[in-house]
Amino acid sequence: MTTSLARGQNTLAGVPVEADRHRAPGLLDGALNTELTPEGCDLGYWFRAVPDGTLGGDAMGRSPDVTVPDHMLRHGPLRQAVMQELAFRSMAEEKAARAISHLVACAPDLAGMDFFTTQLMDEARHAYAFRGHLLELGTPGDRLEAVMEELAGPDRDAILTPLEEFGLDVLRDGRDYIGGVVTLTVLVEGVLAPTAELSERKWLPFDPAAAQIERAAGIDEIRHLSVGTTIVRRHLRRHPEELDRIRELVASGTELWSRLPVQELTFRREQLYQQGLEQHRDLAGDYEVWPGRRLADTTAEERMLTAAAWARTTQQARLAEMGLA
Ligand code: FE
Ligand code: FE
Repeated sequence: MTTSLARGQNTLAGVPVEADRHRAPGLLDGALNTELTPEGCDLGYWFRAVPDGTLGGDAMGRSPDVTVPDHMLRHGPLRQAVMQELAFRSMAEEKAARAISHLVACAPDLAGMDFFTTQLMDEARHAYAFRGHLLELGTPGDRLEAVMEELAGPDRDAILTPLEEFGLDVLRDGRDYIGGVVTLTVLVEGVLAPTAELSERKWLPFDPAAAQIERAAGIDEIRHLSVGTTIVRRHLRRHPEELDRIRELVASGTELWSRLPVQELTFRREQLYQQGLEQHRDLAGDYEVWPGRRLADTTAEERMLTAAAWARTTQQARLAEMGLA
């Protein structure tokens, strides 16, 4: 038997199910039900799973049969909405990649260092793929940075920069590895993941290329959430005396989140999308954005509240699995 088969039953031709673009679960489902370890997700795993299995050989996770539809290339709320969203997401991923470099630097063991090296690559790739879609949508390469700044600069300053400062305080200044993993897994990814899931679902009928990029990134996020959780859980089992300190960190991070204008941004984003949805209702057809709910019947507020409810569920599940509930 090959090593990959010996490692678990969930492998086929070397690509683990949870990383296979055709067979992986959705992001939220996967994040709740997949248990992965840093040793299992080592460099060998990453090379076997990601370039072929998740990405199908394309750095953006795109396949040639899916193209950018004409209606996305024309000026209008739909195009504006996807561009704002992806510019912001690209900035968030860039900040995540840079912050993770500190986790690589202070990882106490090789399994952790190797894993975060792969996560750093994943996040840098997400930033690349999201801004790559802006190019696919017709942004000239030499204007990309300026266009992104116009689309999402103020939101980055209002939301991402304070979060980054919080993270760097823990990671770079405190060299606090576990605190950094908690910040990343619970406060950043655990809260952003549900927005990503909604994004993939809501763009599918209008911009299948964007949905494909989101899907590949979402598969990576399952691994990030799951391995991050394992690292924290193990640490707290070995060091129960750390529980109070980590709880306090989560509380102060949550308090920071509650002060950031995240709901305002999401609502603005969904309102713009709503205008596009109304213009192109025919394209949505009977497509269900989540089981039993036609996208065409949803409202901006409903989508925002649903993503917020998903965020709470994911975050609570993360905390419980870490032993922090
Ligand atoms: Fe990411
Ligand atoms: Fe991630």
